[in-house]
Amino acid sequence: MNWRDRLNRFMYGRYGQDQFSKFLLAICLVLLVVSFFVRIPGLSLLVLLLLGYVYFRMLSRNVTARYAENQKFLELKARFLGLFGKNRSGAQRQGDHMIFRCPKCSQKIRIPCGKGMVEITCPKCRTKFRKRT
Ligand SMILES: [Zn+2]
Repeated sequence: MNWRDRLNRFMYGRYGQDQFSKFLLAICLVLLVVSFFVRIPGLSLLVLLLLGYVYFRMLSRNVTARYAENQKFLELKARFLGLFGKNRSGAQRQGDHMIFRCPKCSQKIRIPCGKGMVEITCPKCRTKFRKRT
């Protein structure tokens, strides 16, 4: 049995890597580079803790919990990118639907694409707003 089979057997039933792990690893790398140039007390410990957490997630057998964490991360990331005008209208495309957020209560609202300007009424707080689809 070669090392690859061993690794596969070891990883069987475990969660493995996802976008969240990759993001955390990228942060570790940035922090490591920073620590070469700036002496910040506790930084190397922080990197170690982060790495420990990444490995804990990758080797975890609780796939459901890890998957939920990743979903949460992806949602936060989308919101974060939205802040920088990548999605200026606040719309997200999902197949032949657009997802808008109510400007008042940020309730998600699904609208079919290609209807031109539409007036949307928020199902939660009844706020009306116009969007292009
Ligand atoms: Zn609303």
